[in-house]
Amino acid sequence: MSLTEEILSQLPGDVLGGLRQSDRILASLRTDETPVPTVVTENPQPLAVVDWDVIVCGGTLGILIACALAVRGLRVALIEKGILRGREQEWNISRKELEVFVELELLTEKELQNAIATQYNPARVSFQGGVEVWVEDVLNIGIDPVYLLATLKTRFLAVGGKLFENTPFSEAVVHPNGVMLNNQFTTKLLIDAMGHLSPITRQARQGKKPDALCLVVGSCAQGFPENSTGDLLLSFTSLQNQCQYFWEAFPARDGRTTYLFTYMDAHPQRLTLEALFAEYLRLLPEYQNVELNQLQLQRALFGFFPTYRQSPLKTPWNHILPVGDSSGNQSPLSFGGFGAMVRHLRRLTLGIEEALQTEQFSANSLALLQPYQPSLTVTWLFQKAMSVGVHQKIDPEQINQLLSAVFQEMQQLGTPVLKPFLQDIVQFSALTQTLLRTGLSHPALVAKIIPQVGLASLLDWMVHYGNLSVYTALFSLSPMLETWVNHQPREKQYYWHRLVDAWKYGSGGDYSQDN
Ligand SMILES: Cc1cc2nc3c(=O)[nH]c(=O)nc-3n(C[C@H](O)[C@H](O)[C@H](O)COP(=O)(O)OP(=O)(O)OC[C@H]3O[C@@H](n4cnc5c(N)ncnc54)[C@H](O)[C@@H]3O)c2cc1C
Repeated sequence: MSLTEEILSQLPGDVLGGLRQSDRILASLRTDETPVPTVVTENPQPLAVVDWDVIVCGGTLGILIACALAVRGLRVALIEKGILRGREQEWNISRKELEVFVELELLTEKELQNAIATQYNPARVSFQGGVEVWVEDVLNIGIDPVYLLATLKTRFLAVGGKLFENTPFSEAVVHPNGVMLNNQFTTKLLIDAMGHLSPITRQARQGKKPDALCLVVGSCAQGFPENSTGDLLLSFTSLQNQCQYFWEAFPARDGRTTYLFTYMDAHPQRLTLEALFAEYLRLLPEYQNVELNQLQLQRALFGFFPTYRQSPLKTPWNHILPVGDSSGNQSPLSFGGFGAMVRHLRRLTLGIEEALQTEQFSANSLALLQPYQPSLTVTWLFQKAMSVGVHQKIDPEQINQLLSAVFQEMQQLGTPVLKPFLQDIVQFSALTQTLLRTGLSHPALVAKIIPQVGLASLLDWMVHYGNLSVYTALFSLSPMLETWVNHQPREKQYYWHRLVDAWKYGSGGDYSQDN
C-alpha cells in the first residue's frame, strides 16, 4: 500500500476513489479521445412562451449571479444537478473584494462578517535561494462556502428566485427568442455555470485539448507547529519531474491548509494527481517542519484547472452565456475562480440586466459580457515561464531565479506594484516598471526565457502587452464619453457600456489602491 493510499484511506468517504476518478477525467483531457457532447442544438421556430428571464445551470458560483439578478427583479431560476451546498474548505480572497456582496444587496454587513471564517496576516512570497517578500491583507480572508451559499440561497428564494435541485442539465435547444432546457424550462438567457467540465463548454470548445493545466493537491490538517502567517507562493525545490513545485499555506478554521500546485502542458506523460499527492506527502514535512505522523488530516484537497488561450470563452450560440469557471475568465496563474467571480460580479450583473432590457441575445452581443482582457491574456506568458515543456531541458534553478529576480524588483517598486499582481490584477504601468527593472538588473536571466517560452509565444505576448497599453489609455479617456454615451439609443448604450467595462477590466482599472 502506498503512503497516499494509507493516508487517504483513513479519511471518511472514498477520497482515494475521488482522486482516481479526477485522474481518469484528467487523463481523458490529456488525450484527444474525449467524446464531444452534443447538448446544444438550434431550432428556427420561435418558442410559444418564454417563462424565465434567466436560467442559471450550476449552483456553486451560479447562485452568486442568480441571486444578484433576482434581487434586481428579474425572473430567475437555478437548476443544480445535486443539492446546492458549499464545500467545507474555505475560499481565500481579499477583504475589499467582498464589499460587492453588500453593494448588490446579496448579504447584510452582518452576514458578510459571519461568512468570514478566518483571517490571517502577513503572507509570504519566497523562492529557493532567493528573495523573501512579506505582504499584508492579500488573499488573507477565508470565506466559509457552506454559510455563504446557504445564505445566498435563502436570499434568492426570498426575492422570488426558483431553485430546482437534483435537476441535472441535459440539453438546450436554442430558438430565435429563447432557449428550451431539458425539454421542460424556457428562458430568454441561459447562464452556464457548470464549471470547467460543463458539457456546454466542452461542446463549444469542440473537445480541444487544454493549452495548459494547473494541478493542485493538499490538505487541511491539525498538529502543525503554531504559525499564524501564510504563504501565497513559495518554492523550496529545484525543477523535479519536469515541474516547478509551488506551495501555499495558511491558517484555516479546521487547522492549517497547505497546497502543492504546479503548471504544465497537457501532455499525456505528465504527472497524475495521485503522483503529485505522493510528492506532496514526501515534501510536506520539510516544508512545514513537521512529521506526517504528528498531523491529523481533516480533509484532502485536489483538483486540476485546464486553461485555454482562447479565453474567456465565446460560445457560438445566441442566448447562452458562460459564467464562473466554465467561462475561462479566471487567471491562468491562480486557481482563484471564486475571487474572479466576485471581482466581476457587479459588471456581470449590470451587464446581463442591460442585455435583457435591450434584448441583446446574439452570440456577439453576449460575448461582450465576457470580453477579451489583455490584463488576463498577458498572464499566459507568466504561466509559461513558470513551467517547462515535457521534454525541454532548462537549468533546474532557472524558474526560481527568474521569479526571485522579478519579485525582488516588485518589492522595491512597493505595494502599489506588488499587491495588485498578487491579487491577479495586471496593470500596464506596474508591469512595465517591473519588466524594465528586471531586464536591466538581470539581463542574462531574462535572455534565458526566450528559448524557454519560445519566440512565437513571446511575439504573441507582445501584442497583448501592446493592447494592455491601448486599453489603459482608452479607459483613462472613457469618462469623456459618458455624457455622449448617455444620449445614445439604449441598444447602442449596451455596446458602449460593455466596451468601457472591457477597457476597465482589461487594463486592471478595476483595482483601487485600497483593495
Ligand atoms: C483545491 C482547490 C482550492 C481552491 N481554492 C480557492 C480559493 O482559495 N479561492 C478562490 O477564489 N478559488 C479557489 N478555488 C477555485 C474555486 O473553487 C472554483 O473556481 C469554483 O468552485 C468554480 O465554481 P463554478 O461554479 O464555476 O464551478 P464548479 O465548482 O465546478 O461547480 C459547478 C456547479 O455546477 C453543478 N453542475 C455540474 N454539472 C451540472 C449539470 N449537468 N446540471 C446542473 N448542474 C451541474 C455542480 O454540481 C456545481 O454546483 C479552489 C479550487 C480547488 C480545487
